[in-house]
Formats: sequence, structure tokens, C-alpha cells
Amino acid sequence: MPSTKLAIVGVGKIVRDQHLPAIASNPDFNLIATASRHGTVEGVPSYGTIEALLEAVPEVDAVSLCMPPQYRYEAAHKALMAGKHVFLEKPPGATLSEVQDLVRIADSKGLSLFASWHSRYAPAVEEAKSFLASTKLNSVHVIWKEDVRHWHPNQAWIWQAGGLGVFDPGINALSIITHILPRALFITKATLEFPENRDAPIAADIHFADVTGLDVHAEFDWRQTGKQSWDIIAETDAGQMILSEGGAKLSINGELKFSEPEREYPALYERFAEIIKAKQSDVDLAPLTHVADAFLLGRHKFVDSFYD
Ligand code: NAP
Repeated sequence: MPSTKLAIVGVGKIVRDQHLPAIASNPDFNLIATASRHGTVEGVPSYGTIEALLEAVPEVDAVSLCMPPQYRYEAAHKALMAGKHVFLEKPPGATLSEVQDLVRIADSKGLSLFASWHSRYAPAVEEAKSFLASTKLNSVHVIWKEDVRHWHPNQAWIWQAGGLGVFDPGINALSIITHILPRALFITKATLEFPENRDAPIAADIHFADVTGLDVHAEFDWRQTGKQSWDIIAETDAGQMILSEGGAKLSINGELKFSEPEREYPALYERFAEIIKAKQSDVDLAPLTHVADAFLLGRHKFVDSFYD
């Protein structure tokens, strides 16, 4: 099968850090154009908007949409209507209903829509899932605490409505637990902390249960300085499992069981190629549904203003 002619829309941090090297190392994709208001990729023709790109380069087969979530639906709609397969950066949209509409359009046109959840492809995630399936799970504690000033300096969109705030990293934890835990989760209680001068939360404390009453507690906080935490700790009948560093390492009872080099984005592009070949879509809305539920059910508390 000839390689897929790919375009990227929204050339920013994640494109430079991850998409470009992953695409360059994958023979199934050939990057032939970009659309971005300011960002460009050396040696690749660039256009200011997705409309200009679709008109100028009709041979594009697929697009990766890497702009902030508030602007993704419009671009995805244009791409699907033009007959292109679509890779959506996480989160797949600003609302559930717009992503559901994209699923409907992709299905009706026989195109592949990929809601990518990069953390699900972290090296130790599948090992963690297998371990949890082999024992009885008693409780889960998710600790996702990082310094927003370090990881998202001056990113205005992330603090605006639809930018998700602390759920921008927190949704990565949700994408992992919804994949590795054996049963569906439901939020039972949540508190979201909003800086007085921002639309999106800086911290969230969330309790979930499943049908068996499993206790799952998630703490997301962007005010962490010093040691950063992206850990999932499960107490089980076979001991304590710690999936740490965002899914990179797995320890059981303090013993490191699994640690391999990170290759989340290469794996995402392998999956995108696979679903294009199979003429399928891959859109799991569970992580975004939990974020929406936290906004629905959670108590909203105002805290000190935040300045970059
Ligand atoms: P970013 O650098 O702030 O934004 C990406 C690009 O989107 C910008 O460079 C900008 O390019 C374009 N853009 C910004 N505002 C726009 C607007 N109002 N309308 C249209 N285009 C706009 O953000 P990022 O960190 O790459 O994140 C982008 C997406 O990837 C987010 O959904 C994020 O959650 C996800 N992601 C990020 C990371 C990470 O580590 N940064 C990791 C995984 C996933 P132009 O100005 O050239 O148009």
C-alpha cells in the first residue's frame, strides 16, 4: 500500500516535540503540507489555514489536527467533508457532542477518525492492565501533580473555557485508568478549584466507584513544585502496583517489573496507519466523558488568581 500523504494543522509544541519525529520514522506516512498561522516545518509547504491547504494540496489523504481543542471541530469537519482521514490530538474536542458528530460524519463517508490518547501507549500500560486482570483490585489512587509554569508557560488557551485547565494533563491519567481497570467507572464526588481570574480549573479532587464499589481517588494539581508526580497506585490482593512516570514504569511491591524506552507517538502513528488500512475509526470518549462529568457533578471552588 502506498504511503499516506499527510498534512499537519496547528504547528506548535507537540508537533515539534513528538509528531515530526514519529512521522519521519514511519514509512506509512509522508508529510506533504502543513497549515498554521505562524508555525512552519522546514522543507514542507505551509499554508495559513486548513481551507487554503485543502484547496492547494487536494492529494492529501489524511490530516493530524494539533491545535488547541477549542478549534479542533471546525478543522476536523472541513477535513472529513473533503474526504480526509483525521487524527485528533488529545483531547479530541472541546465537547462530547462535537466529537460524536465527527464520528457520524466519518462513518457516513467511510473515513478513519482517530481520537488519540497518547498515554495509553506508554510502555508499561499494557503490563499494568494484565497484572490487574490477574488479581483482585481493592483501591486505586491517581496522583497527577505538576508545575503548570514549567509545562505550559504562557499557554493562554489552556486556561480558557474548553482548554480543560488541569484536566489537560489529568485526562492522560483518565485515559490510562479507563483502559487498565476492569470495569466502567462513575464519578461519585468531585471538587474543582478555579483561580478567580481563569475559566479552567487549576486542581481537581475526584472520587470514582465502579459497580462493585471499588474506591478510585484521583488528585490533579498544577501547583506542584519540586518533584512531579504522574503515578497510579493500586492496592490488590497480590500487593501494591505502582504505574509511575505517566505509564513508563511498573513496580509490584516495590520491585521494578517493567521499564522500556518511551515511544508513545510512534505507536500512535502505527495505530493510525492500522485503522486507515482496516477502514475503521478508533474513538473512545470515556476519558472526555469523565471530565465532562467532573464539571457536571463537581463542586466548584474559587481559589487565588493565577499569573504565569
Ligand atoms: P500550542 O503549542 O500552544 O498550540 C499548537 C498550535 O496550535 C499553535 O502553535 C498555534 O499555531 C495553533 N493555535 C493556537 N491557538 C490557535 C487558535 N486560536 N486557532 C487556531 N490555531 C491555534 O499547544 P501544544 O502544546 O502543541 O498542544 C496542542 C494540543 O496537543 C493540545 O490539545 C494538547 O493537549 C495536546 N498535547 C500537548 C502536549 C504537550 O506536551 N505540549 C502533549 C500531548 C498532547 P499557529 O499560531 O501557527 O496557528
